[in-house]
Amino acid sequence: MEDVKEDIKHLIRLVKKDMAIKENMAVLGRNPARIEVIDRKLAEMDQQVKEKEQKLEELEKEKRHLKGVIDSELDKIRQKKIEESKIATNTAYRAWEHELAYLQKNLDQHEEKMLFDLEKIDKINEELDKFRNEIEDEKRGLIEKKSELEEEIRQSRERLSIIEDEKLRVLPHISERVRKQYSRVLDAKGDSGVANLKNEICQGCFSKVPPQICHEVKKNDKIIRCENCGRILVYYEAAEDGEE
Ligand SMILES: [Zn+2]
Repeated sequence: MEDVKEDIKHLIRLVKKDMAIKENMAVLGRNPARIEVIDRKLAEMDQQVKEKEQKLEELEKEKRHLKGVIDSELDKIRQKKIEESKIATNTAYRAWEHELAYLQKNLDQHEEKMLFDLEKIDKINEELDKFRNEIEDEKRGLIEKKSELEEEIRQSRERLSIIEDEKLRVLPHISERVRKQYSRVLDAKGDSGVANLKNEICQGCFSKVPPQICHEVKKNDKIIRCENCGRILVYYEAAEDGEE
Protein backbone atom coordinates (compact mmCIF):
# COMPACT_ATOMS: atom_id res chain seq x y z
CA MET A 1 0.00 0.00 0.00
CA GLU A 2 2.70 2.46 0.98
CA ASP A 3 4.61 1.68 -2.22
CA VAL A 4 1.54 2.31 -4.34
CA LYS A 5 1.05 5.66 -2.63
CA GLU A 6 4.64 6.54 -3.47
CA ASP A 7 4.10 5.39 -7.06
CA ILE A 8 1.02 7.56 -7.34
CA LYS A 9 2.83 10.55 -5.94
CA HIS A 10 5.39 10.19 -8.73
CA LEU A 11 2.72 9.45 -11.32
CA ILE A 12 1.15 12.80 -10.44
CA ARG A 13 4.48 14.52 -11.02
CA LEU A 14 4.73 12.61 -14.28
CA VAL A 15 1.30 13.48 -15.63
CA LYS A 16 1.88 17.15 -14.89
CA LYS A 17 5.05 16.96 -16.95
CA ASP A 18 3.25 15.04 -19.69
CA MET A 19 0.56 17.74 -19.83
CA ALA A 20 3.24 20.44 -20.03
CA ILE A 21 4.93 18.49 -22.83
CA LYS A 22 1.61 18.24 -24.65
CA GLU A 23 1.04 21.99 -24.34
CA ASN A 24 4.49 22.85 -25.63
CA MET A 25 4.24 20.32 -28.45
CA ALA A 26 0.98 21.97 -29.46
CA VAL A 27 2.81 25.30 -29.81
CA LEU A 28 5.43 23.64 -32.00
CA GLY A 29 2.62 22.08 -34.01
CA ARG A 30 0.54 25.15 -34.70
CA ASN A 31 2.90 28.15 -34.71
CA PRO A 32 4.79 27.38 -37.94
CA ALA A 33 1.53 27.36 -39.92
CA ARG A 34 0.53 30.67 -38.31
CA ILE A 35 3.90 32.17 -39.19
CA GLU A 36 3.44 30.95 -42.75
CA VAL A 37 0.08 32.74 -43.00
CA ILE A 38 1.72 35.97 -41.76
CA ASP A 39 4.62 35.61 -44.20
CA ARG A 40 2.14 35.16 -47.02
CA LYS A 41 0.19 38.29 -46.05
CA LEU A 42 3.40 40.33 -45.78
CA ALA A 43 4.58 39.07 -49.15
CA GLU A 44 1.22 40.00 -50.72
CA MET A 45 1.49 43.55 -49.38
CA ASP A 46 5.06 43.88 -50.61
CA GLN A 47 3.98 42.56 -53.99
CA GLN A 48 1.20 45.16 -54.23
CA VAL A 49 3.66 47.94 -53.43
CA LYS A 50 6.15 46.52 -55.90
CA GLU A 51 3.57 46.43 -58.70
CA LYS A 52 2.74 50.10 -58.17
CA GLU A 53 6.42 51.00 -58.05
CA GLN A 54 7.02 49.14 -61.29
CA LYS A 55 4.17 50.97 -62.99
CA LEU A 56 5.64 54.22 -61.73
CA GLU A 57 9.07 53.30 -63.03
CA GLU A 58 7.65 52.53 -66.48
CA LEU A 59 5.90 55.90 -66.57
CA GLU A 60 9.04 57.72 -65.44
CA LYS A 61 10.95 56.01 -68.21
CA GLU A 62 8.35 57.02 -70.77
CA LYS A 63 8.44 60.57 -69.39
CA ARG A 64 12.22 60.74 -69.88
CA HIS A 65 11.87 59.43 -73.40
CA LEU A 66 9.12 61.96 -74.22
CA LYS A 67 11.22 64.75 -72.78
CA GLY A 68 14.00 63.83 -75.22
CA VAL A 69 11.55 63.69 -78.14
CA ILE A 70 10.04 67.06 -77.20
CA ASP A 71 13.47 68.69 -76.82
CA SER A 72 14.51 67.50 -80.25
CA GLU A 73 11.21 68.67 -81.75
CA LEU A 74 11.62 72.12 -80.17
CA ASP A 75 15.09 72.23 -81.66
CA LYS A 76 13.79 71.30 -85.13
CA ILE A 77 11.12 74.01 -84.90
CA ARG A 78 13.77 76.56 -83.91
CA GLN A 79 15.91 75.52 -86.90
CA LYS A 80 12.90 75.67 -89.18
CA LYS A 81 12.06 79.21 -88.05
CA ILE A 82 15.63 80.35 -88.79
CA GLU A 83 15.17 79.11 -92.36
CA GLU A 84 12.29 81.56 -92.89
CA SER A 85 14.53 84.49 -93.80
CA LYS A 86 16.15 82.50 -96.60
CA ILE A 87 12.91 81.56 -98.40
CA ALA A 88 12.82 83.03 -101.91
CA THR A 89 9.58 81.82 -103.51
CA ASN A 90 5.92 81.52 -102.57
CA THR A 91 5.99 77.80 -103.30
CA ALA A 92 8.97 77.36 -101.03
CA TYR A 93 7.23 79.45 -98.38
CA ARG A 94 4.10 77.29 -98.54
CA ALA A 95 6.23 74.15 -98.27
CA TRP A 96 8.06 75.69 -95.31
CA GLU A 97 4.75 76.61 -93.63
CA HIS A 98 3.55 73.07 -94.17
CA GLU A 99 6.68 71.57 -92.63
CA LEU A 100 6.52 73.91 -89.67
CA ALA A 101 2.87 73.05 -89.04
CA TYR A 102 3.76 69.37 -89.21
CA LEU A 103 6.54 69.77 -86.65
CA GLN A 104 4.25 71.81 -84.42
CA LYS A 105 1.52 69.20 -84.61
CA ASN A 106 3.92 66.45 -83.54
CA LEU A 107 5.15 68.60 -80.70
CA ASP A 108 1.59 69.28 -79.52
CA GLN A 109 0.80 65.60 -79.54
CA HIS A 110 3.88 64.70 -77.52
CA GLU A 111 3.31 67.51 -75.06
CA GLU A 112 -0.23 66.32 -74.55
CA LYS A 113 1.01 62.79 -73.96
CA MET A 114 3.54 64.17 -71.52
CA LEU A 115 0.83 65.97 -69.53
CA PHE A 116 -1.22 62.80 -69.47
CA ASP A 117 1.76 60.80 -68.12
CA LEU A 118 2.53 63.42 -65.49
CA GLU A 119 -1.03 63.22 -64.22
CA LYS A 120 -0.82 59.44 -64.09
CA ILE A 121 2.48 59.63 -62.22
CA ASP A 122 0.94 61.97 -59.65
CA LYS A 123 -2.04 59.70 -59.24
CA ILE A 124 0.04 56.57 -58.72
CA ASN A 125 2.34 58.39 -56.31
CA GLU A 126 -0.70 59.42 -54.32
CA GLU A 127 -2.08 55.88 -54.35
CA LEU A 128 1.25 54.50 -53.29
CA ASP A 129 1.53 56.89 -50.35
CA LYS A 130 -2.02 56.13 -49.29
CA PHE A 131 -1.50 52.38 -49.59
CA ARG A 132 1.78 52.51 -47.68
CA ASN A 133 0.06 54.42 -44.88
CA GLU A 134 -2.86 52.03 -44.84
CA ILE A 135 -0.73 48.91 -44.56
CA GLU A 136 1.84 50.39 -42.20
CA ASP A 137 -0.06 49.53 -39.00
CA GLU A 138 -1.20 46.18 -40.26
CA LYS A 139 2.33 45.29 -41.32
CA ARG A 140 3.80 46.33 -38.00
CA GLY A 141 1.16 44.26 -36.19
CA LEU A 142 1.91 41.22 -38.32
CA ILE A 143 5.65 41.51 -37.81
CA GLU A 144 5.15 41.81 -34.04
CA LYS A 145 2.82 38.80 -34.03
CA LYS A 146 5.35 36.83 -36.03
CA SER A 147 8.17 37.48 -33.59
CA GLU A 148 5.85 36.57 -30.71
CA LEU A 149 5.11 33.24 -32.38
CA GLU A 150 8.81 32.65 -33.04
CA GLU A 151 9.60 33.47 -29.43
CA GLU A 152 6.92 30.99 -28.28
CA ILE A 153 8.53 28.29 -30.41
CA ARG A 154 11.94 29.07 -28.94
CA GLN A 155 10.60 28.98 -25.38
CA SER A 156 8.62 25.80 -25.98
CA ARG A 157 11.71 24.03 -27.32
CA GLU A 158 13.66 25.17 -24.29
CA ARG A 159 10.92 24.07 -21.86
CA LEU A 160 10.52 20.73 -23.62
CA SER A 161 14.14 19.81 -23.17
CA ILE A 162 13.97 20.76 -19.49
CA ILE A 163 10.72 18.85 -18.86
CA GLU A 164 11.91 15.75 -20.74
CA ASP A 165 14.98 15.82 -18.57
CA GLU A 166 12.96 16.15 -15.37
CA LYS A 167 10.72 13.31 -16.49
CA LEU A 168 13.70 11.02 -16.88
CA ARG A 169 14.59 11.78 -13.29
CA VAL A 170 11.06 10.96 -12.01
CA LEU A 171 10.66 7.63 -13.80
CA PRO A 172 13.19 5.60 -11.75
CA HIS A 173 11.23 6.41 -8.60
CA ILE A 174 8.23 4.41 -9.84
CA SER A 175 8.01 0.66 -9.36
CA GLU A 176 8.74 -1.33 -12.49
CA ARG A 177 5.26 -2.82 -12.73
CA VAL A 178 3.52 0.57 -12.66
CA ARG A 179 6.14 2.12 -14.89
CA LYS A 180 5.48 -0.54 -17.52
CA GLN A 181 1.73 0.10 -17.37
CA TYR A 182 2.40 3.79 -17.68
CA SER A 183 4.70 3.32 -20.68
CA ARG A 184 2.33 1.01 -22.51
CA VAL A 185 -0.55 3.48 -22.30
CA LEU A 186 1.76 6.41 -23.08
CA ASP A 187 2.89 4.64 -26.26
CA ALA A 188 -0.71 3.92 -27.24
CA LYS A 189 -2.18 7.31 -26.40
CA GLY A 190 0.72 9.56 -27.24
CA ASP A 191 0.26 12.08 -24.44
CA SER A 192 0.41 10.30 -21.09
CA GLY A 193 -0.17 6.99 -19.36
CA VAL A 194 -1.80 8.86 -16.48
CA ALA A 195 -4.85 11.10 -16.27
CA ASN A 196 -6.10 13.43 -13.59
CA LEU A 197 -9.63 13.08 -12.37
CA LYS A 198 -11.47 16.37 -12.38
CA ASN A 199 -15.19 16.83 -11.68
CA GLU A 200 -15.63 13.07 -12.12
CA ILE A 201 -14.20 13.29 -15.62
CA CYS A 202 -11.07 11.49 -16.79
CA GLN A 203 -8.86 14.29 -18.16
CA GLY A 204 -7.28 11.88 -20.60
CA CYS A 205 -10.34 10.86 -22.58
CA PHE A 206 -12.98 13.15 -21.03
CA SER A 207 -15.35 10.33 -20.24
CA LYS A 208 -17.33 10.25 -17.04
CA VAL A 209 -16.03 8.07 -14.23
CA PRO A 210 -18.59 6.36 -11.93
CA PRO A 211 -18.88 8.02 -8.47
CA GLN A 212 -17.74 4.95 -6.56
CA ILE A 213 -14.56 4.74 -8.63
CA CYS A 214 -14.01 8.49 -8.25
CA HIS A 215 -14.19 8.02 -4.52
CA GLU A 216 -11.50 5.35 -4.71
CA VAL A 217 -9.30 7.32 -7.11
CA LYS A 218 -9.31 10.33 -4.80
CA LYS A 219 -7.59 8.31 -2.12
CA ASN A 220 -4.56 8.01 -4.40
CA ASP A 221 -3.60 4.69 -2.85
CA LYS A 222 -4.48 2.17 -5.57
CA ILE A 223 -3.70 1.81 -9.25
CA ILE A 224 -7.07 2.32 -10.91
CA ARG A 225 -7.33 2.64 -14.65
CA CYS A 226 -9.92 4.54 -16.66
CA GLU A 227 -12.36 1.99 -18.07
CA ASN A 228 -12.56 3.95 -21.27
CA CYS A 229 -8.97 4.87 -22.14
CA GLY A 230 -6.85 2.73 -19.84
CA ARG A 231 -4.89 5.64 -18.37
CA ILE A 232 -4.00 5.33 -14.70
CA LEU A 233 -6.33 7.67 -12.84
CA VAL A 234 -4.89 9.94 -10.18
CA TYR A 235 -6.29 12.86 -8.30
CA TYR A 236 -4.74 16.26 -7.71
CA GLU A 237 -5.96 19.82 -7.57
CA ALA A 238 -5.17 21.26 -10.97
CA ALA A 239 -5.01 24.73 -9.45
CA GLU A 240 -1.93 23.91 -7.41
CA ASP A 241 -0.11 23.17 -10.66
CA GLY A 242 2.77 25.33 -9.45
CA GLU A 243 4.87 22.18 -9.87
CA GLU A 244 7.04 20.39 -7.36
ZN1 LIG B 1 -10.00 8.01 -19.67
